[in-house]
Amino acid sequence: MTKQQSAWEKVANMLRARSLWMLYYCTGCGAIELPPTMTSRFDMERFGISPMATPRQADILLITGYLSTKTLRRVIYTYEQMQAPKYIVGFGSCTLNGGIYYDSYATINKLDLYIPVDLYLAGCMPRPEAIVSGFKKLMEKIDRGEADGWKRYQENYEWYKKNQLSALGEVYIHDEFHE
Ligand code: SF4
Repeated sequence: MTKQQSAWEKVANMLRARSLWMLYYCTGCGAIELPPTMTSRFDMERFGISPMATPRQADILLITGYLSTKTLRRVIYTYEQMQAPKYIVGFGSCTLNGGIYYDSYATINKLDLYIPVDLYLAGCMPRPEAIVSGFKKLMEKIDRGEADGWKRYQENYEWYKKNQLSALGEVYIHDEFHE
């Protein structure tokens, strides 16, 4: 269902959806599909999506595959450094349900238990056509004001924090970022 937006929100979301800087957190095998998506064959920039090297300037955090619990901690730090509004794309089945690593002791199965995912790109691994189609869907969601994972993270912070702590343990709160 389309959300009611004020005139200002409509304009802001229309502009946001057409100018997205994306930070790649390439954890898994799927990262290999990004170069063709970014370069001349599929040309992601024609949609206004460009790479960004730092979390503070990025709008999208793209996580390309399985996450070990060790890596999850870094992903949470990265996400928390980004300025709202910000969007997470889970790329590959491993972010959605654990994929082929679903029963590994060292990886997580469902990324959106820990951080809010706005769009999943299913597949092992998704091809560039699927990635481009997913980006277009994300742009439409932003345009309609429905990509609100960053708001859900703020509103349900205690729930996310509890899940993060149960996956990461005490080490999560005794480190250089959270002391
Ligand atoms: S979904 Fe497939 S390609 Fe992507 S990280 Fe998992 S195993 Fe690798």
